[in-house]
Amino acid sequence: MPIICHVCNDKKALLKRPKTGHALCKECFYWAFESEIHHTIVTGKLFKEGEIVAIGASGGKDSTVLAHTLKVLNERYNYGLDLRLLSIDEGITGYRDDSLETVKRNQQEYDLPLTVLSYETLYGWTMDAIVKKIGKKNNCTFCGVFRRQALDRGAMMLGVNKIATGHNADDIAETILMNILRGDIARLKRCTAIITGDDPSGIPRVKPFKYTYEKEIVAYAYFKKLDYFSTECIYSPDAYRGHARAYLKDLESIRPSTIIDIIHSGEMLSVCQGVKLPSQLKCVRCGYISSNELCKACILLEGLNKGKPKLGIGKTSKVTQQLKLSKSEEASCSGGCNKIKNDL
Ligand code: SF4
Ligand code: ZN
Repeated sequence: MPIICHVCNDKKALLKRPKTGHALCKECFYWAFESEIHHTIVTGKLFKEGEIVAIGASGGKDSTVLAHTLKVLNERYNYGLDLRLLSIDEGITGYRDDSLETVKRNQQEYDLPLTVLSYETLYGWTMDAIVKKIGKKNNCTFCGVFRRQALDRGAMMLGVNKIATGHNADDIAETILMNILRGDIARLKRCTAIITGDDPSGIPRVKPFKYTYEKEIVAYAYFKKLDYFSTECIYSPDAYRGHARAYLKDLESIRPSTIIDIIHSGEMLSVCQGVKLPSQLKCVRCGYISSNELCKACILLEGLNKGKPKLGIGKTSKVTQQLKLSKSEEASCSGGCNKIKNDL
């Protein structure tokens, strides 16, 4: 006996929703998935009519489903958004070059303008060259810091009002867990926010998938036959995040609501009055927001260019003092041309 859809009570159910456990047919799943994201967008006040929104597009499942869903919802509910795709080319042969081909096909399919910015153009280094220099141990630190800044720079170039990223509920729960384990209060406070970087000088980043399970994104992409790139980066994922992910999966197997429970717990945590949080300064070299005189990207670049690639790994404040900024640098960096934001 086929199982009948829990919602329409008519069609044959094709999947059991990871989020609710309900058996649904394809159409009812699409509707539930899209409606929940619409609800997140509306209740979180993520967009305003007329805004230009850059979707951070990597060609992976999250950003592909994000581009597809935002296009559908923008038309269905008349958000009045001008959507663009913004891709960052880290310079990873055999990985990013292939995934960018997927983004280009999606650009045609969704008819959205695409801009690609490369690390090579922005920093003079590809990730291939960085890994040659530093090996595979801290490569994700370089890549993550450079990507955040690159997205901001691209967004400024395009003159957009918001950047939408495909961070899903699983990513956010992992990050909450990692920040708790590291005791990083400033990031813990920031990583649960659905909008970050909304200070006067910045371009806000929004996460429409904050409450969307990774498993549902995969199911949606699969049933809709979306074109996405699923190969892992050849420089392997961050080992610490990998452990946090495995731990969460274990918890989820015995308690399916673990992901949402952790996000809700993260949202409920508040920082006691009197606890000192890092102040937000501007990098004296490039103008990006930083909690030290020099931002992390500038320190990492300095290390690479001076043949001391380990320079930026570890405490930024100590390195800033070691670097003893020259007077000319301080004088030439009065403007806030750019900013960096550690949103996760
Ligand atoms: Fe960059 Fe690391 Fe992600 Fe590869 S796994 S794209 S090196 S952050
Ligand atoms: Zn800087």
